Order: sequence, then C-alpha cells, then structure tokens
Amino acid sequence: MSVPNRPEPLWAVVPAAGVGARMGGVLPKQYLPLGGVPLIRHTLETLLGMPEIDGIVVTLSADDSHWPSVFDTLPTNLHTTEGGIERVDSVMAGLEKVLDFAGGDARVLVHDAARPLATSHDIRRLMASVDEARAVGGILAVPVQDTLKRSDDTRRIVSTVRRSELWQAQTPQYFPVTLLYRSLQTSHVQPELITDEASAIERAGHEPLLVEALDANFKITRPGDLALAEAVLASRNRGQGPGDATRFAPNDTAPGKQRGKRTE
Ligand code: C5P
Repeated sequence: MSVPNRPEPLWAVVPAAGVGARMGGVLPKQYLPLGGVPLIRHTLETLLGMPEIDGIVVTLSADDSHWPSVFDTLPTNLHTTEGGIERVDSVMAGLEKVLDFAGGDARVLVHDAARPLATSHDIRRLMASVDEARAVGGILAVPVQDTLKRSDDTRRIVSTVRRSELWQAQTPQYFPVTLLYRSLQTSHVQPELITDEASAIERAGHEPLLVEALDANFKITRPGDLALAEAVLASRNRGQGPGDATRFAPNDTAPGKQRGKRTE
C-alpha cells in the first residue's frame, strides 16, 4: 500500500504538557530517559524522519524547564506552544498553531509524546488506509486480546464484555485540521470525556477508520513500561525491526477490517 502524494500540507501535533504526566518522580514522564535520551526525543525523531511531514507543533506546560535539554539544536520545522489543563486543551492549542502556519486545508497527525515506539511504517499505513478508504480520518489501534470484565465498586465481576468488536485506541490520529478543530470545539463542554481526537469526530457524526498498529506502540504509563520500551528499542536496534519481532501480518481485506494475525 503506497502513500498517495497529496497536495494538502501535513503537520503533526504532539501534546507534551500536563502535570498528570509524572510517573512518581520529579521528571514528567515524557522526559524520562529511554535508551539514553529523553523519551519524547524518540517520538519526535520518528516524525522528523518522515519528509512528508511539513512541520511539528509540540505543546508544553507553561512551567516546563526540561524541553531545552531535548535537542542541542532545534530542527527548523519543530515549533512549540503552551498546552492547557486537559489533553484536549493542549491539542487545540497545537491545532491553532497548525492553522496559523499551514492554513485550514492541512491534515494533521496528533500523536502523544508518551508513545515513543510508533513507527513510520505504521504511520504511513494509517494515512494510506484512510486515503484509500476515503474515510474522514482514522487512528492507529489494536484489537482487544484479553477477556474483559465489568465490575461493581467492590471489584466483584458483574459481567463479561464481548470483546470481538473492541479496540484499544492509540495515536497518531489522522484528520483534516479544520474538521478536527471544530469537532473539538463543539465537544469541549465535557473536556474530560474527550480523551482522544476520534471521540470528538464521532460526536460530530463521523466514522473514523481503525487501522491496526502492527508494531509495538504502547503508551508509557507505568514504571514497568519504560523497561519494556527499552527492550523493544534494543530488539529493533539489533536489526529485528522495527516490528519484525512483534509484527503481525494484516489480512488485506476491507479497510477497517484489518485485524492482523500473528506470523509465527
Ligand atoms: O496523561 P496521558 O498519558 O493520558 O497524556 C497523554 C499525552 O497528552 C501525554 O503525551 C501528555 O504529555 C499529553 N498531555 C498534554 N496536556 C495535558 C495532559 C496531557 O499535552 N493537559
């Protein structure tokens, strides 16, 4: 599947603000060391390595003192702006910059700073799948693998939830910037419910496409995730990847039904 050459500008917004982003220590998690450099640097290097991305906006906390240590020299297509209280506020601040720089026709990839493992291979598959399906936009995601339980507030199991139609949403999430900005504005009355971009687009009545992430792309959330990410990066550096060790072969069926199967 090749990525069509589209005339509209392509930008990325990387939310990297939020005091809730600390994992116990003094450093916000996006600045924790991973493979010897701040975690966010991995996230940004992947996007910077994709020449089809015209520019990147990183949203930072107002009191962020760590950002200057991430790059010795700031790449010219990397811009920063101040984030907000909720993730959605940070994303909207980033989108406003994209609208300023690139105009209303731009497309945008919104990608959490805390997902350092996303590969350009998966990001390109996301964009190509959305374009091929003529979908309004789409997101990287993985099908739920474990059996799901619903609990009451004493942690007793109340029921087992059918998992066959359930996916875990990841980022990047890929949308036309104007549609996304307007949808987030409309949904903003309940910002705590808008934990990803697709949910705002859904509330606006659209059906974004799910594109299965074939390479590891988990969010760094708990301390153990860092060690796991180190292991994934080490295996990729040994020439097993990205993704060769964890790669799934997609069923190239209808877009949106690309549930993969393990190759082993
Ligand atoms: O806290 P959580 O892991 O859900 O955050 C996802 C991403 O959103 C992180 O990269 C975090 O830095 C960013 N974020 C933000 N502004 C906030 C809250 C979170 O940019 N107010």
